[in-house]
Amino acid sequence: GSKGEGGEEYLFKIVIIRDFAVGKSNLLSRYARNEFNMHSKATIGVEFQTQCLEIDSKEVKAQIWDTAGQERFRAVTFAYYRGVVGTLIVYNISRRTTFDSVGRWLDELKTHCDKTVAMMLVGNKCDLENIRAVNIDEGKSLAEAEGLFFMETSVLDSTNVKTAFEMDAFIEIKKER
Ligand code: GDP
Ligand code: MG
Repeated sequence: GSKGEGGEEYLFKIVIIRDFAVGKSNLLSRYARNEFNMHSKATIGVEFQTQCLEIDSKEVKAQIWDTAGQERFRAVTFAYYRGVVGTLIVYNISRRTTFDSVGRWLDELKTHCDKTVAMMLVGNKCDLENIRAVNIDEGKSLAEAEGLFFMETSVLDSTNVKTAFEMDAFIEIKKER
């Protein structure tokens, strides 16, 4: 697609954040290349993985960010959030601790992003129903209370992966800019 100088108009940025091992890398690789890796290695530290996607026939730059040790990377933080129009905050429905710390990530997002940024809470690994540790209603309630979109996904069986990346809010916000 065509892009303005600096890419403001058609190149929009979606960031995926959380601690390691909730499924961020796989979420992106499933969406972008329909690939799933059972043994992908979690990266410790700041990891940038960028992938160009085509959504609504527009070019979208999606980035994954692993944020362990973030305090040491403040400068990176600012650069990372610049120009972001959408964020996926991912937790793992089979690990309670990843849900309990969502608030911390929200605080960080609210500090660095402006109010027009679309935020979606994503409960990943919903295929792991037998070891579920976070009820779907808890996810919904938190999202409602914080004004976030909400979705449960499974990268393993592809549930809602496309929907999470292509939510209408991203498209709407892009049009307004
Ligand atoms: P990241 O550290 O957040 O980028 O997480 P990864 O994408 O590397 O995934 C961590 C581990 O969880 C890997 O072993 C994946 O195979 C696994 N995983 C990711 N998504 C899912 C999912 O939806 N269901 C299941 N069962 N496993 C998943
Ligand atoms: Mg990763």
